[in-house]
Amino acid sequence: ATEKKAPEIKGKPIPGIKNIIAVASGKGGVGKSTVTANLAVTLSKMGFKVGVLDADIYGPSVPIMFDVAAERPLSVNVDGKSKMKPVENYGVKILSIGFFTKPNQAVIWRGPMAAKALNQMIFDAAWGALDFLLVDLPPGTGDIHLSIMQSLPITGAVVVSTPQNVALADAKKGVAMFQQESINVPVLGIVENMAYFTPQELPNNKYYIFGEQGAKNLSEDLQVPFLGEIPLVQSLRESGDIGRPAALQEETPLEESFKEITRNMV
Ligand code: ADP
Repeated sequence: ATEKKAPEIKGKPIPGIKNIIAVASGKGGVGKSTVTANLAVTLSKMGFKVGVLDADIYGPSVPIMFDVAAERPLSVNVDGKSKMKPVENYGVKILSIGFFTKPNQAVIWRGPMAAKALNQMIFDAAWGALDFLLVDLPPGTGDIHLSIMQSLPITGAVVVSTPQNVALADAKKGVAMFQQESINVPVLGIVENMAYFTPQELPNNKYYIFGEQGAKNLSEDLQVPFLGEIPLVQSLRESGDIGRPAALQEETPLEESFKEITRNMV
């Protein structure tokens, strides 16, 4: 994995942004946003310049995970043009569709509307120089995904799944979506989240609550890389809720897992 280079952007390039990586899941609630947030801080800790675009129109959770839900992007002047300035925390620049909706308001974004808003957050935003822009996609494989894929120069995609059959079936559709001819985005690999649970009182026992190695097996079936696994850990859920990604902590098993996934990804 050390010699692997991220593929070059194919679509309309965005000055200053080297790689745009889509993070997808077939099914909702499998930990796509948790993985996005932790990969972002891991990349940042490795010295890369990182941004996160939260495109999950059904439940934008990145602002909460970065403790910036009360903030709003300011407008700045860049070369005579007014641009949106991403909010920043933990060294990561953030724009979210959640910044443009009222709390507790369920917004039904139609595909073209969502695509337009997302385009603005990419092309009319003052991201500055970025090595990686991670895009937290909505779950599933709908029209919105198609328009995002067709309008944005995505470098590669990461698919998150739990080992459970219903999640895997949807992850498979996700991989197929990226690989279909009109989209043709390289799949960087699959992350297995909630891979197992280890109770504190039985530290040597692994319980495969959602099934064993399902996502790993899927990656072999589909011949796409397996990026790594994240166990089911209470502190990971808590770190998301309090807005301080777990990967910020040094020398923990979780930090190491996210580092390994990141190394396999880039
Ligand atoms: P998605 O973006 O796929 O909808 P989220 O990242 O929002 O999923 O995760 C759904 C819920 O599960 C959140 O409450 C999150 O904190 C929790 N969660 C995700 N991954 C893990 C994990 N490995 N261990 C414990 N809780 C997790």
